[in-house]
Amino acid sequence: MNLLSSLTQHVIEKNPNEPEFQQAVKEMLESLEPVAELHPEWIDAGIFDRIVEPERQIIFRVSWIDDNGVVNVNRGFRVQFNSAIGPYKGGLRLHPSVNLSIIKFLGFEQTFKNSLTGLPIGGAKGGSDFNPKGKSDREIMRFCQSFMTELSKHIGADTDVPAGDIGVGGREIGFMYGQYKRLRNEFTGVLTGKGLSYGGSLARTEATGYGMCYFVEEMLKATENSFKDKTVVISGSGNVAIYGAEKAIQLGANVVALSDSDGYIYDPAGIKLDTVKKIKEVNRQRISEYVKYHPTSKYHKGCSGIWTIKCDIALPCATQNEINESSANALISNGCIAVGEGANMPSTPEAINVFLKSKILFGPAKAVNAGGVATSALEMSQNSIRYSWTFEEVDNKLKAIMSDIYMKTSNAAKEYGFEGNLLAGANIAGFIKVADAMYSEGIAY
Ligand code: NDP
Repeated sequence: MNLLSSLTQHVIEKNPNEPEFQQAVKEMLESLEPVAELHPEWIDAGIFDRIVEPERQIIFRVSWIDDNGVVNVNRGFRVQFNSAIGPYKGGLRLHPSVNLSIIKFLGFEQTFKNSLTGLPIGGAKGGSDFNPKGKSDREIMRFCQSFMTELSKHIGADTDVPAGDIGVGGREIGFMYGQYKRLRNEFTGVLTGKGLSYGGSLARTEATGYGMCYFVEEMLKATENSFKDKTVVISGSGNVAIYGAEKAIQLGANVVALSDSDGYIYDPAGIKLDTVKKIKEVNRQRISEYVKYHPTSKYHKGCSGIWTIKCDIALPCATQNEINESSANALISNGCIAVGEGANMPSTPEAINVFLKSKILFGPAKAVNAGGVATSALEMSQNSIRYSWTFEEVDNKLKAIMSDIYMKTSNAAKEYGFEGNLLAGANIAGFIKVADAMYSEGIAY
């Protein structure tokens, strides 16, 4: 039976210029067919129709003045997708490619990811087409203040709690938090990813990358394998990539490649993370600088070549649709045994088919990168009780959450006839809790 295919078609027709959003919805609804068959009451209550429509979408003008005194205008977004299980929660992305389709796909996925964490957080996403590259600290500050001036009207510690994403790290969260506090005169946990001196959580910076490796380690353990002595390729060189590399190295792997949107570095002797942190986190330079410090390494222009490097484990941690069918085929023919999606929707549908058909271990983004938002929820808890846990306490909670997500995901896959398909498992397990809450809360939303 194809109970949900007409809904997929309806979403495509209703959101015609939103390819990323269409892609995310199609993938989700395909996994949910067996759930729809078992739950006619959810069909009757319109759960599937309602879950693909954001509760609220806010689009706003962000004007700011650059260092030359010139007025710039960007577009800001906040899509509050689903609040059935808790206040809206999800990151803010600053990148010139940002548009409504991208923010909607991210908000939609966030809803189910947040549900998988087991913590009470709804789904949202936001951002702007502002390009932070090449901007001075003062320009970043003025942009963030202008962005928050509007955003502050729509968020709150019990309403909607944004965090970082591409282009938004500690610096940007600091500027936004300062502005929120100035406007509202309240010191609350309205943003996560804050600095440690004003309410941030230890281990939040590391959480998405570390959590990704904890999840992948669970997948490997199920086949009596581990990170030890494995060759690992990681795309990106931002927050998720750097801390993913750090944990993979701690678990005994050799990380040989990292990238940015211009190209990738290959260091077969093993990437030196101290150098990468200096280049990316301190100097905010391009990854190509790495070869100046380590002349035996090589820099290659272009992003997709990174997937032709022979590796055991591939961890895409840059952006959506960065692995296409031919990159996926290259990974498989080079003997890759596991892929863990650190970025959101980094594999195209064709690439996912290659991974699933070849029966390698495939960890989907919703599950694999959920450690970031889970630790953000732990930051919210610490803010609420006005207390801070130690790094070890937070890291241990993160480990337990990632292991629980792995169990939920693989059990749901088994129960609904998709044994071994963690993509379907994550979609189903994430959906069921949200659907159950929406059903209980009634229809008039
Ligand atoms: P950062 O901004 O810290 O780093 C992003 C990295 O990806 C940079 O190296 C960047 O290169 C590269 N990149 C960005 N856009 C593109 C593009 N269009 N093509 C090629 N490379 C690109 O972001 P994060 O590390 O925080 O986020 C990375 C991914 O992880 C995203 O998909 C994000 O949604 C996801 N994620 C992040 C979480 C978090 O806690 N931070 C939580 C869950 C998911 P360049 O500098 O050249 O732009």
